[in-house]
Amino acid sequence: MSNEFQAICEKCGGKMVARHEGSMQGLFCTRCDWSVVTTNIAGIKLDRTQYDVFAINGDYKNHSHIKVVAEVTGSNSLAARKLLQEPTPAVFRGSAVEVKRIKAILNSVGMFCKIIPDFPW
Ligand SMILES: [Zn+2]
Repeated sequence: MSNEFQAICEKCGGKMVARHEGSMQGLFCTRCDWSVVTTNIAGIKLDRTQYDVFAINGDYKNHSHIKVVAEVTGSNSLAARKLLQEPTPAVFRGSAVEVKRIKAILNSVGMFCKIIPDFPW
């Protein structure tokens, strides 16, 4: 289900793993001591946080809102319409890369969202 970000060490060809070490975030080789810190790579791909996305101005009578919510939740329009009647419907939970895409989809039909925890991307 998760988008595994796979990288190979440029020194020894070993497998690189994403890791947080204190305030530093980067890719670390599992075979040698080679590492690549966030400044050299797209940090969003290393963000392992699971974000919750809530629609804050969804309108259950708006057809494009229903369509988009059905799309991002992977449900049908009936379920999406029901969900949009909740005060702050939770429409998605996932990684930073996915959340960025979902946010753009919601924004494209004039919907705004609240993301928890704070979304830095
Ligand atoms: Zn290595």
